[in-house]
Amino acid sequence: MTFSSNAQAIEQLKWRKFPVLNDGFVCLVDCMGDDSAVVQAARVSYGEGTRQRSDDRTLIRYLLRHRHTTPFEMAELKFLIRVPMDCWRQWIRHRTASVNEYSTRYSVAIDSMQETAPHEWRTQAVQNRQGSGVELPPDLGERLTAEEHHFQLQARQLYMQRLEAGVAREQARKDLPLSTFTEAYWKIDLHNLLHFLALRSDEHAQAEIRAYARTIGEQIVSQLFPMVWEAFGDYRVRALQLTALDVGVIQRLVARPRATEAIHWTETDFLDSQDPSWAGLPRSRERDECRRKLEQLGMLPPHAMETV
Ligand SMILES: Cc1cc2nc3c(=O)[nH]c(=O)nc-3n(C[C@H](O)[C@H](O)[C@H](O)COP(=O)(O)OP(=O)(O)OC[C@H]3O[C@@H](n4cnc5c(N)ncnc54)[C@H](O)[C@@H]3O)c2cc1C
Repeated sequence: MTFSSNAQAIEQLKWRKFPVLNDGFVCLVDCMGDDSAVVQAARVSYGEGTRQRSDDRTLIRYLLRHRHTTPFEMAELKFLIRVPMDCWRQWIRHRTASVNEYSTRYSVAIDSMQETAPHEWRTQAVQNRQGSGVELPPDLGERLTAEEHHFQLQARQLYMQRLEAGVAREQARKDLPLSTFTEAYWKIDLHNLLHFLALRSDEHAQAEIRAYARTIGEQIVSQLFPMVWEAFGDYRVRALQLTALDVGVIQRLVARPRATEAIHWTETDFLDSQDPSWAGLPRSRERDECRRKLEQLGMLPPHAMETV
């Protein structure tokens, strides 16, 4: 989609439900500001005459690169979202948003639960204790999906039976599963939204919440704030942060004469080098992270790592 103005983009996007998971959605309710609102706020610091030296795109890229955050707080977005409770539990941890959620004390819980298709069941990751591994075999997936369906029906039936027996809604809901969808209005400024998107679209985040972050970013933010979105991709999403350990390892690796003209250095280059920052590193997680960055830079061959 391309829009001739931000107002037109907002009108086109407003109230449009972008589907996520089997019955979730993300919907833009309103938006205040655009790329130029970020620029306008930043220019107040630099005074007259900045425009000649730096156009809007260059300024936005500079601000994002150097973490000058407050100009990005000048824009605000309000969403209506429908999300399963397990994702919502993670979502609500982002304290810098304003939230109003559907109340299952006032109203009957939404009659919809997040369903998992047979091919969507994942193994527990071995290395990353919080993450998922690979896809489970299809026959097992079929069984898990059928069991899930049966359980969700039973849970809903029990809930409805409690309501019919006169149990208070606030108590009857207690055994509804985490797959139950909730809805909320969620308003956040652009700076904190980008922070949310960076954390929740990262491969370490749960696949389900990643689907929401991707939808918000790709379907909405990219349309309303094209310059900010481009800079966010370049300086956050596709950027690589090097720690002191990473820098030291890379410097020593590059300085070290190589035995062969192979494209990559090898694991032995590190381990044999007696590099204290590498070989003697007590925590393997930091080493693994460093290794992964070297792979991304094409300095080490890809390692057989589990998918997350
Ligand atoms: C992959 C992943 C795994 C996670 N695992 C866990 C887990 O196992 N257990 C768990 O409990 N949580 C976990 N979290 C949640 C995480 O610790 C944060 O609570 C969540 O991501 C919200 O981030 P935030 O605080 O930066 O965001 P926000 O709450 O939106 O805050 C944005 C920024 O504002 C500032 N800020 C906000 N409130 C305060 C405050 N009161 N004091 C000072 N500064 C403030 C901080 O700079 C903060 O970074 C996980 C998150 C991710 C992405």
